Amino acid sequence: MKVLVINAGSSSLKYQLIDMEDESVKAKGLCERIGIDGSKLTHKVPGKEDFVVEKDMPTHQTAIELVLEALIDAEHGVVSSVDEIDAVGHRVLHGGSVYTESIKVNEDVKKVIRECFDLGPLHNPANLMGIEACEAAMPGKSNVAVFDTAFGMSLKPYAYRYAIPEEYYDKYKLRRYGFHGTSHMFVSGETIRYANLPEGHQRVIVCHLGNGSSISASVGGKAVDTSMGLTPLEGLVMGTRSGDIDPAVVQFICDHEGLSVDDVLTILNKKSGVLALSGNLSSDFRDLSSAAESGNEKAQLALDAFAHKVEKTIGGYLAVMNGADAITFTGGIGENDCAMRAKILEHFDYAGVKLDPEKNKVRGEKCEISTPDSRIRVFVLPTNEELAIARETVRLS
Ligand code: ADP
Repeated sequence: MKVLVINAGSSSLKYQLIDMEDESVKAKGLCERIGIDGSKLTHKVPGKEDFVVEKDMPTHQTAIELVLEALIDAEHGVVSSVDEIDAVGHRVLHGGSVYTESIKVNEDVKKVIRECFDLGPLHNPANLMGIEACEAAMPGKSNVAVFDTAFGMSLKPYAYRYAIPEEYYDKYKLRRYGFHGTSHMFVSGETIRYANLPEGHQRVIVCHLGNGSSISASVGGKAVDTSMGLTPLEGLVMGTRSGDIDPAVVQFICDHEGLSVDDVLTILNKKSGVLALSGNLSSDFRDLSSAAESGNEKAQLALDAFAHKVEKTIGGYLAVMNGADAITFTGGIGENDCAMRAKILEHFDYAGVKLDPEKNKVRGEKCEISTPDSRIRVFVLPTNEELAIARETVRLS
């Protein structure tokens, strides 16, 4: 079975064609500048030169049509006809409080995705365009929507409700949703499998640390808490996002700088986080680490503040689950930044965490990095959201 995985953005569209026999990626690529002058498709097939098509893509449908042409191209293609694609899986940001798991797309599903435009204004409209483009270009194929918010749907009300007047929940469903859900679902499930955690001992903390960062606590693959909220702004200190902040800060900046709430939220999303703490040096942890090593105090502050918030969150989740059986690191930082992992884990001596310094040198590969006598096992496990979407698509097609 071959599954096409689509991640549609407002002016871009990423895709992968995955052969589910061996879960290998046959081809992947990116359409850029959809609806803007200078559209471009870059199609990559393992072991071959990139195939670049510079052609107008006024809509997502034209983009999908070009993707299909590339996939069946005599020289750069990987299938002989579109019929060989069995189903399509779509990353969809927001399923509101309606969808607790992935679902095969029909008119009702599209209606809910549309109703969630308010909750995911940047992503949901684009995700729906991706679905409708595939329906038009490949009539009759099953399309599956995999929601980034679905993983957070198993939270109990005491974990997802904000302590604000009930009417805002009743009217608008304002609550903690959590994001990176597909990654947390994949990595928590893979941790249970890889570590062979027996039933009753499947309390997993997943630290997805990248440009956007979040941590989840789950039992048996079902989330019990997660650090992102109504939007991905809540929780950890991130590349350019502030994470948790006293809302009074927003009012204070508005009043003193004559800015609107929208302006301040843009600052909190795009100009904050480690970028701000490092004095605008960088949001990239490689730059921050080398600057800190050369004595840059602001870069050091940024790294310390990031680690501090991760430690507090892991500590909180240890309390919530009355312990943990595994802690897993994923995402660009989680998979690659050995020094950051060691710095964070130093704080969990009390919980019996013992890191193996040799094993902790691993970068971007599946590995158990704790010692055999560590009371909580620690893993590095690369996330793979596309594969998670493809697996869900197979399950539901
Ligand atoms: P996104 O949230 O955009 O998907 P990624 O998960 O790809 O982000 O993570 C990107 C971040 O990972 C970069 O900003 C960089 O800080 C960090 N990173 C990547 N490789 C390394 C490395 N070798 N050492 C330290 N940090 C790294």
